[in-house]
Parts: sequence; C-alpha cells; structure tokens
Amino acid sequence: MSTLRTEVGIVGAGPAGLVLSHLLYLEGIDSAVLENRSRQYCEERIRAGVLESGTVDLLVQMGVGERMKREGLIHYGIELRFGGQGHRIDFKDLTGRAITVYGQHEVIKDLIQARLATGGRILFEVEDVRIDGFESAHPKIHYTHAGQPGEIHCDFIAGCDGSHGVCRPSVPPGALTVYDRQYPFGWLGILAEAPPASEELIYAHHDRGFALHSMRSPQITRLYLQCAPDENLDQWPDDRIWEELQTRLSGGNDWRLHEGRILQKGVTGMRSYVVEPMQHGRLFLAGDAAHIVPPTGAKGLNLAVADVRVLARALNAFYSTGSTTELDRYSKACLRRVWRVQRFSWWMTSMLHKHEGNPFDERRQLAELDYVTSSRAASQSLAENYVGLPMDDTLLR
Ligand SMILES: Cc1cc2nc3c(=O)[nH]c(=O)nc-3n(C[C@H](O)[C@H](O)[C@H](O)COP(=O)(O)OP(=O)(O)OC[C@H]3O[C@@H](n4cnc5c(N)ncnc54)[C@H](O)[C@@H]3O)c2cc1C
Repeated sequence: MSTLRTEVGIVGAGPAGLVLSHLLYLEGIDSAVLENRSRQYCEERIRAGVLESGTVDLLVQMGVGERMKREGLIHYGIELRFGGQGHRIDFKDLTGRAITVYGQHEVIKDLIQARLATGGRILFEVEDVRIDGFESAHPKIHYTHAGQPGEIHCDFIAGCDGSHGVCRPSVPPGALTVYDRQYPFGWLGILAEAPPASEELIYAHHDRGFALHSMRSPQITRLYLQCAPDENLDQWPDDRIWEELQTRLSGGNDWRLHEGRILQKGVTGMRSYVVEPMQHGRLFLAGDAAHIVPPTGAKGLNLAVADVRVLARALNAFYSTGSTTELDRYSKACLRRVWRVQRFSWWMTSMLHKHEGNPFDERRQLAELDYVTSSRAASQSLAENYVGLPMDDTLLR
C-alpha cells in the first residue's frame, strides 16, 4: 500500500481540478490530483470552447495563457439568427469586453504541462477512488493504481470529478438539496475539418429546431443541432447532418456552411442541476460535481474555474492565518454566481430551442428574440452575461 501525504487531495483532472491545483501551487500549498482517465484521453476530450474574459485573465495571471493568447480567437460579438436573418450582438460596444474561443482540451493540455513542469503530482488512470474521513480533520482518498492500492491523507478534499464522479454521492444522504431540471431535447454535436463560415458564433432559432455554428480554430468548425435527448446517431449519416445544418443555419442569402470531413460526432443531454451546499465538512465540491448548466450559454467550464478561484483563496486564507471564515463562506459565495449563470443558461436555452406543443411559446420566443436584438438594454443584458459576470469580489458579498 502506498500512502501519500498532501494538504489538498483533488479528485478529477478537468478544468476545476487542474486550475485549483495550479492556483494552490502558486500560493505554496501542496496538492495531489487523482484522475481515472489517461493523460491522452483528458487532452483529447472535446467539450467546451468559449472562455469568458475573466477566465482568460485568470489563466494569463496563472502563467498558463501563452498559447491561448497566440492561438485563441478573440470574438467581439455573436449573431442571433431567426426568421432567416442575422442580428449581431456587439459585445465590444455593449460591454467593452470580448470572449476567446479556445478548446477546453487545449486549456487542459496547457494546465497539465504547467503542473508537471512545476513538480505537480497528477496520478492518471487510477481506479476504485473512494473518499472518507471528511467529517473529521483527517480526510482520506483511497484508490488503486497499476493494480496497487494507495491512500492520500490530506487536510481537505476537493471534489472536482464532474457530474458522474464519486465525491458528491459520498456525502451522507439528506445533507445536500438537489435542484434539477431535465430538458426534452439534447444537442447532436460534430467537429468538422472545415473552415468556419462566419468569424463569430451563430445561434439559430428555426422551425426545425435550434442550431449553433461555432469553431475551434480557423480550420475546424464545431456545429450543433437540437435533437432528442436519446437521439440515435445511426440515423444521422454525414449527409443528413450537413443538410439539416444548412437548413437551420440558412441566412436568407447565398450564405452556406463550409462542409468537410466529420472528425467526431456525439449527443449531449441538456440539464440544469445544482446541489446545495457545495461543502460538507472538509469536502468541497467544485465545477460539474456541484452543478450542470445546459451548454447554450457556454458557461460550464467558466463556472468551474470561478468556483475553484474562490476555493483557492479560501484555502490560502486558511493556510496563512488558520482562519476558516472564508472556507465556511465558500458555498454561499459560489452559489450566488451559480444561480445567476443557471438563470442565464436556462433563459438562452428557452429562447432558442423549439418546444413542441404550444404555438403560444413559438410566438413568445420570436417576440423575445425581436426584443433582445432591437433594445439596447436587452442586448446589453445578454452581452454582459455572455462575456461573463465579474470575477472580482462583487459577487462574493
Ligand atoms: C459531453 C460533454 C460535452 C460538453 N460540451 C460543452 C460545450 O460544447 N460547451 C460548453 O460550454 N460546455 C460543455 N460541456 C460542459 C463543460 O465541458 C464542463 O462544464 C466542464 O468540463 C466542467 O469542468 P469540471 O472540471 O468541473 O468537470 P470535468 O471536465 O467533467 O472534469 C472531471 C474530471 O474528473 C474525472 N473523474 C470522474 N470521475 C472520477 C473518479 N471516480 N476518479 C477520478 N477521476 C474522476 C473525469 O475523467 C474528468 O477528467 C460539456 C460537458 C460534457 C460532459
């Protein structure tokens, strides 16, 4: 049995776990990260790609933003397309800020490289992870690595293991309140070897359902179609996907998507989910382990980063003064942002997706889109949420 002692034991090497580990390192606090997937799998897993300006600033401050600054695409707006016409939301004019398009897997590569280059401990491909002792001052993480059992003894556990991890289910029944909303649709997403047909993201509301044109680089397009939550991908040969995307994203003129080889296809369910509180004893939940947002607002990764920024500061306050005041406030501080982001993600989802059934909803959605694209106040509300709520302490009070 191998036993390892550290200050903060972190489960999960996604954005939450890796950003936390590096922030702690920069404050001189020791941590170890356990991850059940391989390094290659983590670095190739295609997920989010829109970084809020606050996330970008934090990654730069942490010294992991070099490649992002070189290769990331800075966008000063998005387009909302409905009734066959496009309407631009101009972030620069409305907020003075921008978003950066840079794949989550690229952020992960940069973080893993920085952690390993600075002596960080990340154990990939661990199995049977189990946590206990977090209701005492002596939490433990148990695992198996290369067939050998191991234990991490730590002061705190950070549960950064995503929506299907082991940390949240380890909290005793009844200690957490769950808020959950499932949507009757999902997204069929593709990654295509084709240059983006527009410089900015296009969110399309269409009679046949929602569609999104996004990108990961000047050569790679990321596209999504609203579909059933359990859509069978076998029913979607490449030609059908392109045809449906061309229809839903059509702009009324001769604008067309650039088509290319489809590199990856997948269906993602849509859910809004929060557990409260985000802490139990010395276990702190962060990112998708504590909350899930539908991807329409492009917030999941950004919210994970915002959580661990708060947690790193609270842990730093504990290790430098012995005070638990900030740790005790962790959940309350995070939840204020979490619920605002939940509201925004739910609102974008409800406005843009086709809801079967009541024609009233269709008319209401069009009125909402008309309002959002013609009123400066309404456009500004969308823009300030999209580029990201402040990462300073405004939301911590
Ligand atoms: C399939 C999918 C597609 C998505 N697409 C988009 C998108 O297009 N746009 C968008 O904005 N957002 C998207 N998201 C959301 C966004 O990617 C997440 O919000 C973000 O990854 C959250 O980061 P995290 O670190 O909290 O969790 P994760 O990134 O999920 O990281 C958790 C880590 O913990 C590891 N882990 C899990 N269980 C264990 C265990 N038992 N032991 C050890 N390690 C464990 C996992 O392998 C993973 O590496 C998507 C999410 C998913 C699941």
